[in-house]
Amino acid sequence: MLIGCPKEIKNHEYRVGLTPESVAELTARGHAVLIETGAGNGIGATDETYRAAGAEITDVETLFAKAETVVKVKEPQPAERARLHEGQTLYTYLHLAPDPDQTRDLIASGATCIAYETVTDPRGGLPLLRPMSQVAGRMSIQAGAHALEKAQGGSGVLLGGVPGVAPAKVAIIGGGVVGRNAAQMAVGMGAEVTVYDRSHDVLEDIDRQFGGRVRTVYSTATALNQMTGIVNLVIGAVLIPGAAAPKLITRDMLKGMMPGTVLVDVAIDQGGCFETSRPTTHQDPIYEVDGIVHYCVANMPGGVARTSTYALNNATLPHLLRIADFGTRGALERDPHLLNGLNVAGGRITCAPVAEAQGLDW
Ligand code: NAD
Repeated sequence: MLIGCPKEIKNHEYRVGLTPESVAELTARGHAVLIETGAGNGIGATDETYRAAGAEITDVETLFAKAETVVKVKEPQPAERARLHEGQTLYTYLHLAPDPDQTRDLIASGATCIAYETVTDPRGGLPLLRPMSQVAGRMSIQAGAHALEKAQGGSGVLLGGVPGVAPAKVAIIGGGVVGRNAAQMAVGMGAEVTVYDRSHDVLEDIDRQFGGRVRTVYSTATALNQMTGIVNLVIGAVLIPGAAAPKLITRDMLKGMMPGTVLVDVAIDQGGCFETSRPTTHQDPIYEVDGIVHYCVANMPGGVARTSTYALNNATLPHLLRIADFGTRGALERDPHLLNGLNVAGGRITCAPVAEAQGLDW
């Protein structure tokens, strides 16, 4: 199969759909790969590195005209959508539910569109979303530690403390993929960590995973209220699938917090779980409300593009190899979990939640 990987064109997107290592896996199996010139700049992979892995470097027009499967990271932008055509497969994040313009263009393109975020695994998880949650969870503690510094408006508390001075108290609301990865980093830095969740299974798992190094608390409004007066850093990591994040920390609750407390709202991509959250960017990540520092970057993994690209490729490559080996149709017929990723095909929506979100037939 002829696979193409263009340079991402969404604002400040530095990740890339294929690493040179993934290209080498494809070419070793006899597939051909086209890479747009400069596609790997954001992760430090030069055209030369891709050539050495067996790719041909080309321009964006040739790539979209020739590639049988186009591999990307972000949803296709209007200029990219205009280049997609019938008989072509698009394999990338799409997030179509809230995006009728993109949905209309993809339907009109006639392309077969597989969305990373709806591919499933046998345990019912979302394996192509998981690596980005791992990255965001780990990064949330790094971002929070930085925001706690005085120069950033924080209270001037070091997460791990030092001998003779107590460590910081970190509250993590939501003990899923983001929450556990945040807990791992916070524990590693020597902080005193409490995870709040509403699932007993999750709380039990965390208790087992951390062998008592992390406190677990059932998440109620009362428990969260009690936490506000003593905590230095709060990580918002809740998810209610298919719904906007619940507002678990209200503006009123900020009054009970110590000045310079830091709130990192990882759930901002689902609307945020703090009432005072609004999306920010890596260029201008923090702002203050009532003396409380907020960090609400909506695409945290983009800040560590190299790690994120490699983590994403580890998850996307096995499916891509099957698409290349068996053809898109063959791969979809063989794997019901990849089939769950099919969002648009033959000029129609093929994913129920997307269709329902937009009131369309499927
Ligand atoms: P997940 O499903 O693995 O975990 C979510 C957890 O929240 C679950 O354990 C659930 O029981 C818990 N929860 C639900 N309601 C709760 C409540 N009221 N109190 C406490 N816990 C509650 O999800 P995840 O992969 O960890 O993702 C968490 C959030 O992070 C999602 O909104 C996701 O979209 C977001 N995210 C953001 C970025 C970013 O760049 N900002 C990157 C990756 C993920």
